[in-house]
Amino acid sequence: EPAPPLLDVNGIEVIYHHVILVLKGVSLTVPQGGIVAILGGNGAGKTTTLRAISNLLRGERGEVTKGSIEYQGARIENLTPSELVRRGVVQVMEGRHCFAHLTIEENLLTGAYTRSDRAEIAANLEKVYTYFPRLKERRRSQAAYTSGGEQQMCAIGRALMTNPRLVLLDEPSMGLAPQLVEEVFHIVRDLNGKEGVTFLVAEQNTNMALKFADYGYIMESGRVVMDGKASDLASNEDVKEFYLGVG
Ligand code: ATP
Repeated sequence: EPAPPLLDVNGIEVIYHHVILVLKGVSLTVPQGGIVAILGGNGAGKTTTLRAISNLLRGERGEVTKGSIEYQGARIENLTPSELVRRGVVQVMEGRHCFAHLTIEENLLTGAYTRSDRAEIAANLEKVYTYFPRLKERRRSQAAYTSGGEQQMCAIGRALMTNPRLVLLDEPSMGLAPQLVEEVFHIVRDLNGKEGVTFLVAEQNTNMALKFADYGYIMESGRVVMDGKASDLASNEDVKEFYLGVG
């Protein structure tokens, strides 16, 4: 039998505040070791999809009302966000959530909260610094005084401190200059290739996402309207007309 995909989202419906239907039956598959992009404009439902997977909807007064989410072949809808982190599923939220008053290194160490082995944590920190040398240079700076790009790197680095298997990355390009966006995506690909970390990335920047992902899903109004290999999507006439050049 073929191995099941790492993540299998099957027909999920999400409702906010008991009445606002936002996801209208979304299905997607993330293979082990892949980089999969969720594309689409503002309000298409990308963030909601990631929140459904990492079980972060409750705080937003949202819930999954239909469908299923399977990770490594088992249902995960009832696991708490921290149980998910322990199993290797971590979300990097939109807007680079770093603690402004902590240093970069302190921020990274907060990512190790589920773990207790100090030597392992130290080794993990060194590994994060090899992927993000800029964070090493800035490790003693308060996050508030670092650049947007450094804060995005810090948010990703913090997620890596949990030793994830699957990283849900929400809009990494937001507010970053194109060159920095490219730098961040290069690091994502490096982590994917060398550490085997699987990524599901929500992005409005279709150009950049299709350049770095293997596969893409395009969402509109709470539905997947198209999906395919990233290279096929990038050369598709409809995609070019409606999505490329956006973001
Ligand atoms: P963006 O790039 O703006 O984050 P998105 O594709 O990630 O867009 P979502 O943030 O998932 O889209 O939003 C999808 C829809 O759900 C939007 O219409 C939004 O207004 C609505 N929505 C999101 N969060 C809530 C909430 N907590 N309560 C009610 N409606 C919400």
